Amino acid sequence: MSDRIDWNSIENKWIKKWDEQKLFQADPDSRNKYFVTVAYPYPNSPQHIGHGRTYTLADAHARFMRMKGYNVLFPMGFHYTGTPILGMSRRVAAGDSELMDTFHKIYKLSDDVISTFVEPIKIASYFHNEIKAGMKEMGYSIDWRREFTTIDKMYSKFISWQFRTLRKKGLIVQGSHPVGWCPRDQNPVSQHDTMGDVEPDFNEYTVIKFRTGDSILPAATLRPETLFGVTNMWVNPDVDYVQAKVDGEKWIVSKEAARKLEFLNHKVEVIKTVRGKEIIGQSATNPVNDSAVPVYPASFVEADSGTGIVMSVPAHAPYDYQALEDLKADKRTQKELGISVDVDPVIIIGSEEYSGIPAREAIKQVGATGQNDVKLEKATSDLYSREFYKGKMMENTGRFAGMTVAVAKNEVKQGLMKSGAAATMYELVNKPVKCRCGTECVVKLLSDQWFLNYGNKEWKGQAHECATNMDIVPQDIRQEFDYVIDWLRERACARKSGLGTKLPWDEEWIIESLSDSVIYMAYYVIAKFVNNKSLSDDSINDAFFDYVLLGIGNANQVAKECKVPMQIVEQIRKEFGYFYPVDSRHSGRDLVPNHLTFFIFNHVAIFEKENWPRQIVVNGSVLMEGKKMSKSLGNIIPLRAAIKEHGADILRLAILVSAEILQDADFSFDTIRGIRSKLVGIFEMVEKCRKPQAAGTELEDRWLASRLQRAIAETATSMDRLRVREAIHYILYSLEQDLQWYLKRTAAKGRENVSGTLSEFLNVQVRMLAPFAPFTAEEVWERMGNRESITTAGWPVINENKIDPVAEESEFLISSLLADIENIVKVTKITPSKIAVYTSAGWKEQVYKTILANILDGKTNFGEIMKQLIANPETAKAKTDPKLVQKMMEDILSTPLDARKRRLKLAGFAEATAIQDAASLLSGEINKAQIVVYSEENSSKYDPKSKAKSARPFKPALYME
Ligand SMILES: [Zn+2]
Repeated sequence: MSDRIDWNSIENKWIKKWDEQKLFQADPDSRNKYFVTVAYPYPNSPQHIGHGRTYTLADAHARFMRMKGYNVLFPMGFHYTGTPILGMSRRVAAGDSELMDTFHKIYKLSDDVISTFVEPIKIASYFHNEIKAGMKEMGYSIDWRREFTTIDKMYSKFISWQFRTLRKKGLIVQGSHPVGWCPRDQNPVSQHDTMGDVEPDFNEYTVIKFRTGDSILPAATLRPETLFGVTNMWVNPDVDYVQAKVDGEKWIVSKEAARKLEFLNHKVEVIKTVRGKEIIGQSATNPVNDSAVPVYPASFVEADSGTGIVMSVPAHAPYDYQALEDLKADKRTQKELGISVDVDPVIIIGSEEYSGIPAREAIKQVGATGQNDVKLEKATSDLYSREFYKGKMMENTGRFAGMTVAVAKNEVKQGLMKSGAAATMYELVNKPVKCRCGTECVVKLLSDQWFLNYGNKEWKGQAHECATNMDIVPQDIRQEFDYVIDWLRERACARKSGLGTKLPWDEEWIIESLSDSVIYMAYYVIAKFVNNKSLSDDSINDAFFDYVLLGIGNANQVAKECKVPMQIVEQIRKEFGYFYPVDSRHSGRDLVPNHLTFFIFNHVAIFEKENWPRQIVVNGSVLMEGKKMSKSLGNIIPLRAAIKEHGADILRLAILVSAEILQDADFSFDTIRGIRSKLVGIFEMVEKCRKPQAAGTELEDRWLASRLQRAIAETATSMDRLRVREAIHYILYSLEQDLQWYLKRTAAKGRENVSGTLSEFLNVQVRMLAPFAPFTAEEVWERMGNRESITTAGWPVINENKIDPVAEESEFLISSLLADIENIVKVTKITPSKIAVYTSAGWKEQVYKTILANILDGKTNFGEIMKQLIANPETAKAKTDPKLVQKMMEDILSTPLDARKRRLKLAGFAEATAIQDAASLLSGEINKAQIVVYSEENSSKYDPKSKAKSARPFKPALYME
């Protein structure tokens, strides 16, 4: 599509101007402040369109608040911490062909650049610069004086202080806890370290030790309370098991399970391999009641799930029930393996949810057939949640009888653990989880590791308090935060390798990336003073941070101790006090379970309540033409290339307009084209209002001004909740429709004096557009004759005096009348040369109002309305024409609510005046027909077909010839 607008040169012009005017540099002043931050980028790749969403949303938010008069600070840093950059440099050194392909084909890097990447820091600084350039080109209103990287010396001092502070409070502990683990890198893994950015999630299973001869058949379960209902064991006949010494006991488990047990710090010595078939037919002893249960074959048993051995509870586990049914029907297998199947389900949990065998009913509800049917997953989770919340242990469970499942579950487990008949085991819930090095991750029980103790009850309580008092946008995501705060436990906070800050008291550890990125928003205050060289890191110690961030100690002493001028110490303290707390934190939805929740935890641990964060804004991801963006689909578009091709504003709008914030946005080229034509239209408008006259006072002028006030109100309401899709819709689409109507009306009248009204309109529209399309807005604003940046022009304020119900009603009436006429022309296929319009008789107005008041009151009973009309002498005439009353009711019910409300308030509205005013438009639209307007009551009217009597208020009657 071609237009004559050179988007890129407009962008360059304004980037330079903003820079020169220091427009986005925020320092404390007398205005109210607003501190917006967004998760800093990790520079191991250029940004693509998907990254653009979070940053663009945060920028639009920052710009909106700036226009509302706040002193907005919107800073940016770069997150170098962690292992991915290190891993990438190793892959470069090894000439990894997949990585080279990505560099060449997607990132379009030259070999010269790539060859420097053997040094990790070169990778980070290259992409850092690339991302920064892209952010400038997108028009982000960032205060670049506060930029830093997480391996800057001063930042490391800040992080060391953070960690010493947490440790003093007892929130960092050393111990053995399970972590996601890469066996190859010998490092814990979290979301940042995995392919596809998944957080390893694991569950604790109870391992029940069934005895068989001198060996143990251990079965991993999430439901130890069902042990009383075990009827048999399941083993997969085609899986390789091993007999192994596990902590001195002889266990039989799958090969995979033996390996997992090693990572969980069990001493495992494999003695020999045993085929699953060989175990089938043996008898095992249930530790809870010493009953003997047979070992049967089942194909649903997976070698890498749990221990590879399953205890069968057919009454309460759909898989077990189905496998037992399958086996009973399979005489051939029974014969082959020399077994006979003679067990029946034993019900041990009662609940109102099920009347017969619970597992059988749950299977029936999902319609599963056969043990390998995936529907059994749903049956299992349905049954589990029902029994967990509503089930009670039955008489056949001994001392546990009468307990709820929730209680019994723990009691049974504790009893067995105490007697040595059970152990615990961790298992990944969302496997396979792959490390970025390609290795499949496991759960490891890590000893002597340093953990942030997110399991601490008191800490959790404070985190909940903070979240409860915080504004979370959108609201729907609040529950997720509460869930994560409850669910978090000890979390490994240090690694053995990677870039970052050393753990201050144990220097063989490096603080990992999700732990050094939680309170850095405070560091933006300090970074400005480091960058302008009034602060040097040489002598800075904890006393400095204690004072400037927490107000502990005194300035004089800190100044001496840290060799910083007293006045600078005070200035930093003051600036922190001014900008903190964070008013809004923006991030992608995938960071709710980690970063955003850690952000809450660490803030409440370190800062005073008054400095706890106030708002979190979470957005969904971006799809490309309906598909997930991925390297394999080749649909990743680097952001800078897209800016070059489409222009930054068009990109910004296209990313933000396609969805409300929590949904996935769909980026499409259709949207790009649509947005471009809207922006081009705005540029063309400037030409129309080059020499603005005084604003017009005709009906359509008053109407457009009134509509504009409503748009201001609606857009501001949307923006306050960051419903940006809706806001953009008002600015670009609803207003555009109004404008088109206005142009049509004035053209029909042959008016030339429209530039005043148009320039008022444009003035408001571009100011509302400025947060979303800052380049276009600035350029148009300047072309309109303004000298100062549009940022300083402020967000438009409603002028109540310009809200004009008569004008709104007039245009509404005219457009519905036009639609009625067009409809009749279409249906009757006549080409009228004359159209007579009849407005209703005066007495009908009061009838209409009475009906309207009833309907607005929720009363729509015809009989009662009629009674009311007849009782009032003013409206009693309605008795003569019940059909008319019926029609009026229909009219009102099909009228939009806002118009109904407006009409109730209008007194003596002159329909004829409005219609006369639009006669030129009606005539122009309908075959240049002559338009004549009569009142129904006019005795000399032209009415050959007696149409006038059917006229109703706001619904004139028509005659055409
Ligand atoms: Zn790895």
